[in-house]
Amino acid sequence: MRNKKSFSFKRDKYKTSRGGHSRLVNICCRKCESIVAVYQKDGPGNLRRMYMDRIFAPAELTDLQALRINDAPTLTCRKCGEVLGTPFIYLKEKRKAFRLYQDAVIKRLRKLSE
Ligand SMILES: [Zn+2]
Repeated sequence: MRNKKSFSFKRDKYKTSRGGHSRLVNICCRKCESIVAVYQKDGPGNLRRMYMDRIFAPAELTDLQALRINDAPTLTCRKCGEVLGTPFIYLKEKRKAFRLYQDAVIKRLRKLSE
């Protein structure tokens, strides 16, 4: 995964409902520390789930929200094979997401000027 690539934030009702403050984070495998995904975190709080429409990279994890939830893959570290989360629908927003296993990932802030 290229680290220099720049991304621009997704702006929609979900972002607005969380207060408008977003950060771009690298989601890293807790076990081997390799980057699993680049993710837009909206609003405050811990990262307990990753919404599929907020994943910017890698390509195979983007646009998963278009799949039926039963067809979505588990979130797995490509380097060490650790399973990090499972797909589910966040019912409050009817939004597809990965439920992260507790302490499965580390999030590291990326630099992005807005
Ligand atoms: Zn790993």
